[in-house]
Amino acid sequence: MRRFFVPPENLHVDPVPLTEEIVHHLGAVLRLSVGEEILLLDGKGRLCRCRLESLGRRAGTARVLECRQETESALPVRLLQGLPKGDKMDLVLQKGTELGLAAFSPVLAERSIPALSADRGEKRRQRWERIIREAAQQSRRAHLPRLGAVLPLAEALRDCDEDLRLLLWEEESCPLTEVLPAAAPRDVAVLVGPEGGFSATEVAVARRAGFVPVSLGPRILRSETAGLAMAAVLQYLYGDLGSGRTGGGRLPLR
Ligand code: SAH
Repeated sequence: MRRFFVPPENLHVDPVPLTEEIVHHLGAVLRLSVGEEILLLDGKGRLCRCRLESLGRRAGTARVLECRQETESALPVRLLQGLPKGDKMDLVLQKGTELGLAAFSPVLAERSIPALSADRGEKRRQRWERIIREAAQQSRRAHLPRLGAVLPLAEALRDCDEDLRLLLWEEESCPLTEVLPAAAPRDVAVLVGPEGGFSATEVAVARRAGFVPVSLGPRILRSETAGLAMAAVLQYLYGDLGSGRTGGGRLPLR
């Protein structure tokens, strides 16, 4: 069954008003008609099986048949990603969502390509939000990862209070096996540099913010690969990647 995220407040009324983007997808792309069933989610775990009640060109509604709250057993991991070049961030957001990341904080590092104008920045944010939404729909997540604002490193580090804070650094770092604790941490922050890596000053700032430099082995990974590799390792060790559980619940989901 097709899944769509709607604004959270829409899932507390019945019938549920459908956004123009969803209506377009249902009608013009999927060619669904009134009477067919879809799943609507609020991005915070609430999932409702609904029946399409009306479907116009720009607006539509769906009747709620049943609802439930889903929990996520993924370890909460936030990726602080040094902004990579071009549209590489798109890939990080899409794959990171599939791998169960809880939040993304794009970081303007010293060696990141300079910031765009505010106008293009807003467009970019909307694109990033859409990529996350589509990846969460495709990977059947009921929780949408949070997307933070693009911030300079020092500012981004200010609110990092995760239990385990890892700085992926290809120089003078400890091996993962020495840094990762035996017991699952409450939550984790992972900091990854842009293509050019971090400067010595940035490494010092991150260390002061409680980040432990770790190495991912002898190969230098691309900026967009490093965080994803770390996410997979963490979800395997402490999260749900090794659990073998498919799907999330009791409703018919196909
Ligand atoms: N500046 C470096 C490579 C940077 S790779 C050079 O050109 O040689 C981009 C980012 O990916 C790094 O800042 C780091 O966060 C991460 N990274 C890549 N390979 C890594 C490794 N083997 N260990 C730890 N971090 C790595």
